[in-house]
Amino acid sequence: MSQATNGTPKNGRVGMISLGCPKALVDSERILTQLRTEGYEISPDYQGADVVVVNTCGFIDSAVEESLDAIGEAMEENGKVIVTGCLGADSERVLQAHPGVLAVSGPHAYKEVMTAVHAVSPPKHDPFLDLVPPQGIKLTPAHYAYLKISEGCNHRCSFCIIPSMRGDLVTRSIGEVMQEAENLAKAGVKELLVVSQDTSAYGVDVKYQTGFWNGRPIKSHIQQLAEALGELGIWVRLHYVYPYPHVDKLIPLMAEGKILPYLDIPFQHASHRILKDMRRPAHAEKVLDRLKVWRDICPDITVRSTFITGFPGETEEDFETLLGFIKEARLNRVGCFTYSPVEGATANALPNHVPEDVKQDRLERFMAVQAGISAEILSTNVGKRMTVLTDSYEDNLTIARSKMDAPEIDGVVHIEGEMLEPGQFVDVEITRADDHDLWGTIVE
Ligand code: SF4
Repeated sequence: MSQATNGTPKNGRVGMISLGCPKALVDSERILTQLRTEGYEISPDYQGADVVVVNTCGFIDSAVEESLDAIGEAMEENGKVIVTGCLGADSERVLQAHPGVLAVSGPHAYKEVMTAVHAVSPPKHDPFLDLVPPQGIKLTPAHYAYLKISEGCNHRCSFCIIPSMRGDLVTRSIGEVMQEAENLAKAGVKELLVVSQDTSAYGVDVKYQTGFWNGRPIKSHIQQLAEALGELGIWVRLHYVYPYPHVDKLIPLMAEGKILPYLDIPFQHASHRILKDMRRPAHAEKVLDRLKVWRDICPDITVRSTFITGFPGETEEDFETLLGFIKEARLNRVGCFTYSPVEGATANALPNHVPEDVKQDRLERFMAVQAGISAEILSTNVGKRMTVLTDSYEDNLTIARSKMDAPEIDGVVHIEGEMLEPGQFVDVEITRADDHDLWGTIVE
């Protein structure tokens, strides 16, 4: 269950279970924010809650199971349960497993969740308890926050069912996004992680319409948004960037230090044939050319990407193409998954599925190659000075992150012999590296 908040509740007590990706986490934060805005208390346990909201994930089968289990536990422990999130888009499946739940809604259905909460625990009117911090309630540590800029996705990658769960792209107004970002910065957040299903498509659905931030007109376009976010004076990191040509325009902003020199851009594969079957942009050679240009403009850029091994029809030759690509591309941070046949994905109908042991073997070969590349790249940092952001400390050791490291998914910088409060920028000299992390000492 999420954390408790202090104070006498004006309305009832609501429990919250948040599952899934950062996008789902932002949904939970917005629900919690609305609950606190209306004077509900967040219950830290099932017993103290009038009702429990379960924000579910439905991305892969194991996530569906985890979500159904969480609903089952909440039903058993409390009995009054509202289900929302990605799995909620398939309400029949939820109701079949747990017919007693009070309401089921899909992702970003804040209004439906609140309506369901009101039905169980009707709100009382007391304006004094409607006060919540302007930045809302956050589930992340105080010094970083996810900023969700849009919902849904206009692509139809054949391995993904997110568009069928979350719908087509819906851009959040740039004024609202910037106000939230500004509130977070004022509240002490030091790093904003920009997330969505497709960050570089921001504004496509509203034809890049002009909005206003502090009375100033700004176009709803990722470039203008990144520039405006860069004015807040904190770290801004872009995630889930689809490789459109206009992404190139973001690189100068990174070189100028307006946003972090970090691009999380899932390439998924390098074989032309596989990319076509994935319904992804299918020109690995162009990607290599673009990487070169990006590095010429911004030499310290960190490129993070994700790949899939064992996609239906992937031959040993396709896989070798992928290995050749990562050897040449020398990406800084890489995640890799074996193909998982998510129920409803069109890729499942493709012929020649790859046996599980072959998928796994390719994943291991891929990661072994990438570990060597990563170790080589990281070792070039030894002796360099860099600014890091502290995350936590334990037993004479501070864990921090450099500009190269997004929280949870990338490496960290260990600062031995120091116990620094989280959320501080400090300068370190790098003394050691392995294939994932760095070690450094503080410099004055
Ligand atoms: S771009 Fe991402 S969210 Fe959209 S369909 Fe492809 S994998 Fe799914």
